[in-house]
Amino acid sequence: MPVQFTILGSGSNGNCAYLETDDTRLLIDAGFSGKQIRERLATIARSPEGLNGILITHEHSDHIQGLVGLASKLNLPIYCNRLTKEAIERHTKGRINAQIFITGSTFEVGDVIVDTFSVPHDADDPVGFMLRTPSGNIGFLTDLGHATKLVLERVRSANVLVLETNHDIKMLQEDLRRPWSLKQRILSRHGHLSNEAGAEVAEQVVHAGMEQIYLGHLSRDCNKPELALRAVNERLQKMGATHVRVEATCQKTPSATFQLNKRPTPPAAGILSETFTPAVPEFPPTTTPPQIPPHQPMLL
Ligand SMILES: [Zn+2]
Ligand SMILES: [Zn+2]
Repeated sequence: MPVQFTILGSGSNGNCAYLETDDTRLLIDAGFSGKQIRERLATIARSPEGLNGILITHEHSDHIQGLVGLASKLNLPIYCNRLTKEAIERHTKGRINAQIFITGSTFEVGDVIVDTFSVPHDADDPVGFMLRTPSGNIGFLTDLGHATKLVLERVRSANVLVLETNHDIKMLQEDLRRPWSLKQRILSRHGHLSNEAGAEVAEQVVHAGMEQIYLGHLSRDCNKPELALRAVNERLQKMGATHVRVEATCQKTPSATFQLNKRPTPPAAGILSETFTPAVPEFPPTTTPPQIPPHQPMLL
């Protein structure tokens, strides 16, 4: 069976994704109510009872809202680092069944290898993930104020990347509902990536084996999917990286399930190797100038 990946919802008010391999069924964050998560899993004919565990990036409520209820009811292990565990227990005033990892370490859940790495964000010890499955790699990069060298390095071998494009800078600056202090927080180096900053990351990490980028964590008030899509698509098209499909995620509805199909194992590379050798040549091609296709009408 192919590896299946579904973003159940993403945005400033809730984030949750589902990954399924032959052996393993995981949630990545649980930022909706338990009821919502159950309903969203039902849209892909799955249920929380089938889960093997939940990976948590950090303790902000848009990532853990339904966590404690769901995990305690089903006695599911929660994979997080120690500071995140303590913060969750402080906020929810309960104990959780945590499988503690050290930030920067790699561990396995069934046949999924989980790389963890630190991201600059205003939580106690926030992380990004690279999930290495038998059919390809899925990178999670949301909730970060800027992309460090380490971050770029860790998601470079992603075949599928969930990438934050939180806000349009102009819309955020002109927003009347947010106090200046909150705007400062969002724009800071420990806040959230703007569309432009997300596009910059896409440009730096894209490679021949990257198939899909999901734009995640869009602000409801200070962004529009078409603005985020335009920023990233324009940047990728300019460099000739037209092979990557870019899709904006939605707060309210799950994205279509993405299937990762088995790819050839790179020669002489163990499963823990950092580098994935793409089956197609590296780009941009060195011999011909990149072709810039016309914009898709939906982006204008
Ligand atoms: Zn956060
Ligand atoms: Zn968040």
